[in-house]
Amino acid sequence: MVVTSLNSLEIEKLLFQPTKNVLLLVDALGNIQFSNSRVEKIFLFKRSYLFNKNISILFSKKYISIVNTYIYRCFNATNFDFSKTYSEILAKRKDDDIFKIGASFKMIRYQRKKFLLIDIKDLSEQTLTKQQEKFLEDKKRMKFISNTSHELRAPLTTILSAAEILEKFKGSFGYEDIQTKNINRIKNSVQHLTKVLNDFLKINRIEEYTKFTTKPVSIKKISETIINTFHHANAKNILIKYEHEGEVVISICEEILTSIINNLLSNAIKYSKENSIVNFSTFVNGNHLTMICKDSGIGIPKEEQKDIFNRYYRASNVKTEQGTGLGLSIIKEYLNKINGEISLESNLNQGTIFHVKIPLI
Ligand code: ADP
Repeated sequence: MVVTSLNSLEIEKLLFQPTKNVLLLVDALGNIQFSNSRVEKIFLFKRSYLFNKNISILFSKKYISIVNTYIYRCFNATNFDFSKTYSEILAKRKDDDIFKIGASFKMIRYQRKKFLLIDIKDLSEQTLTKQQEKFLEDKKRMKFISNTSHELRAPLTTILSAAEILEKFKGSFGYEDIQTKNINRIKNSVQHLTKVLNDFLKINRIEEYTKFTTKPVSIKKISETIINTFHHANAKNILIKYEHEGEVVISICEEILTSIINNLLSNAIKYSKENSIVNFSTFVNGNHLTMICKDSGIGIPKEEQKDIFNRYYRASNVKTEQGTGLGLSIIKEYLNKINGEISLESNLNQGTIFHVKIPLI
């Protein structure tokens, strides 16, 4: 077995060399004793956090067994051939994003202790093997099922508990406020369930659509109707301020328009603090409709902004807010069909602005 002995200067040179790769030094138990600064960019973990953590934190269950086998062999097998240790496997970032890496292993000795140096190349741009693709797809589906079950179970629990309260007060006088409150809880939960189920149906249908029928509609009226439904069912007391500029009647597919406005506004409310303001504006200018939805909510981490239009993707800063990760992917797919565009500006804990631009024929 080849073990390279290094002195302080050599190890410093090795670990602090400018490189695009992540370098990790692990001990025989797989605990990380050193990581270079690239680890923060690629795995999104702070270096100080990783110190002494087990390397399993950087891999999903299926792939950690491969890495552990290498670590075990490197430290224990007498005739282990390091030239054959290069592996292309899947690793996991802090936000649970799975991506492809190429890892090679080298045994080194420093201050009479043996360490394994793992040199990790980011291969996220490379195409995945069929098996890796299937693994990723399965993982996404499992996350989606768990999000969805939660998304359906929470309103059902609310409906049941509201119905039980109503049953308790059945026929009693003087409890109208409790009864009204619980009837509203049931109505809101049913509305929410309907939205989730509609999203599921939509995502499967959009692909099959080839032509969307357009008709003249009042953009102002549609926006105001949707905003009113949000004001009625808005437990967080968020004010939606709306303004419109330009022509009012436009020719557009109503289903697409309402779906986009609904999703942008429901997200703006969902990811904002109580009593805040959401600004929604529509502009018709020449041959385009532009919509801008601005909130001052939790924001979206910069490195995840490119992913939020992917199906089932939910950003890592989402905590208690329920969701399926489908809404924005539906918007994106609709916009692709009609040559529309969507972009965003967002700062963590400051807020998010979505811009949508749709050509009008
Ligand atoms: P859902 O809200 O059901 O999770 P979406 O597809 O509508 O799904 O949004 C995907 C993700 O984008 C959300 O989970 C959230 O992380 C992020 N997101 C969308 N809109 C906002 C917003 N206005 N503020 C903060 N995060 C947002």
